[in-house]
Amino acid sequence: SGSLVAYSDSQSETERVSLEQNQKEQKKKKVVVLGTGWAGTSFLKDIDVSSYDVQVVSPRNYFAFTPLLPSVTCGTVEARSIVEPVRNIIKKKNGEIQFFEAECLKIDAANNKVLCHSNLDQNLGGNGEFSLEYDYLVIAVGAQVNTFNTPGVRENCHFLKEVEDAQKIRASVIDSFEKAVLPGLSEEERKTCLHFVIVGGGPTGVEFAAELHDFIQEDLVTIYPMVKDLVRVTLIQSGDHILNMFDERISSFAEQKFQRDGIEVCTGCRVLGVSEKSLSVKVKSHGEVYSIPHGLVIWSTGVGTRPLVRDFIEQVGQGDRRALATNEWLRVKGSENVYALGDCATIDQRKIMEDILNIFKAADKDYSGTLTISEFQDVVDDILIRYPQVELYLKSKHLMDVTDLLRDPEGNERESVDIEGFKLALCQVDSQTKSLPATAQVAAQQGTYLSRCFNRRQQCQEHPEGPRRFSGSGQHRFRPFRYKHFGKFAPLGGEQAAAELPGDWVSMGHSTQWLWYSVYASKQVSWRTRVLVVSDWARRFIFGRDSSR
Ligand code: FAD
Ligand code: MG
Ligand code: MG
Ligand code: MG
Ligand code: MG
Repeated sequence: SGSLVAYSDSQSETERVSLEQNQKEQKKKKVVVLGTGWAGTSFLKDIDVSSYDVQVVSPRNYFAFTPLLPSVTCGTVEARSIVEPVRNIIKKKNGEIQFFEAECLKIDAANNKVLCHSNLDQNLGGNGEFSLEYDYLVIAVGAQVNTFNTPGVRENCHFLKEVEDAQKIRASVIDSFEKAVLPGLSEEERKTCLHFVIVGGGPTGVEFAAELHDFIQEDLVTIYPMVKDLVRVTLIQSGDHILNMFDERISSFAEQKFQRDGIEVCTGCRVLGVSEKSLSVKVKSHGEVYSIPHGLVIWSTGVGTRPLVRDFIEQVGQGDRRALATNEWLRVKGSENVYALGDCATIDQRKIMEDILNIFKAADKDYSGTLTISEFQDVVDDILIRYPQVELYLKSKHLMDVTDLLRDPEGNERESVDIEGFKLALCQVDSQTKSLPATAQVAAQQGTYLSRCFNRRQQCQEHPEGPRRFSGSGQHRFRPFRYKHFGKFAPLGGEQAAAELPGDWVSMGHSTQWLWYSVYASKQVSWRTRVLVVSDWARRFIFGRDSSR
């Protein structure tokens, strides 16, 4: 049944429930999961295989711990240490999850099928293709790099998205040094070879720049002494500041640290194109265009939509969007049995003003046409669950309590409000609706949330009341997904990091780096990778990084 999110009317609901009971005796519901990244694996870890027949499709048979990818680019951590085989993750005691190493080419929602392609056997089905049927589909394919159609980027830049990308960067950095010391090069040519350019001043670009700087200063200059004064690292950022999604204190701390380190930061610059030997860059403020010779460019400017997802967005009639829109229960809008989570999806948060009349009616228990403070208080908890923007709004206005919303313009408490007064009190709230960032933290929490919903589906069909809700036509049995932010880090090199923690707490420096080490060690998916990562760090402290290709 599609009743995980019940926007359906109750009659077909009853039909479906009885239908399902018949079916359940015959066979378990088929769940197909696309992707084994943060969202996919966190869903798979907790899904109850005794109630579902689960199949997973992903072109890579491992999970990669992406936050440590920048460390792999310079050999601070080995690639093998940050990947965990999918088959280890899906191993279950009470059943089996099937994994297929293949890429999903197309989702056929009308027929509840996905078409997949495997590189491993070209004769499979005639052309390496096979299809899988599903009752529920979970799309967790993530996003892909975004070049913003800048010419030459695909051909001449490195990306930092996959494990292979990080390994290629590592080899290329070493190659640049080996090339720069070859005989017969002019000083200018050596300089060009050793000019490393990073495009994008977000967390990944900044962390990579810091890693690279450390690698060069701590390890490479001592073994390539003849070129040590020719190395340059440049970070190009189109906005006015690097790390502009962080607190201002952090972004200026980072800028100052980079300046001391000699990492050149060019803000307010747009890259127009990249060729094999140079980049053309436009300074936004005065429009002048420069050509900058480079030895290596890393392109790290945010993420875009995968073709598979773009195609599906069209299929479900969502028009021109960057990510699949879901409701707050992570079900794709315009489809009954497809869920999407992580970087390929975005939650379309319901507006409180769309439901304002229903909320008012539900709260006004005595049908008096006015709402008293105590009537309002009775529904406050439900409102806060259903519309997280209310809490953000209160915070932005420095209000302590939701009922403060109902005060009159002078700030005095009111006995009651009518519908017009109620609308007026809440009309600004929706402006605080925020979309969630494309992070591992969000993806992993969504995976865990969705598996919990799936596991509880059975139980909830037996007790369908659930908590009170105002919106939509049906009853919701599950609380909507609620993101819990645990803070974010920005490693800045030289054993320093910055962190922004909940409650507007900002911390920077060496102690924060230790916090970073402990958090990232604890976040490892298995004890095996935890031991590997920690011993890589120890090895690096003692012996430095490995500088062979
Ligand atoms: P992904 O983890 O990208 O997983 C997508 C999965 O789908 C992969 O297994 C992929 O192989 C598979 N797939 C792709 N196409 C198909 C297809 N056609 N069919 C089937 N399967 C497919 N976030 C943080 O919170 N903190 C950090 O410190 C941090 N650092 C980062 C550093 C780097 C270098 C990068 C690149 C990202 C970082 N992120 C960080 C972001 C984080 O990695 C993403 O937000 C997260 O991976 C999103 O999870 P996901 O499951 O949606 O996608
Ligand atoms: Mg995933
Ligand atoms: Mg991943
Ligand atoms: Mg998302
Ligand atoms: Mg009343």
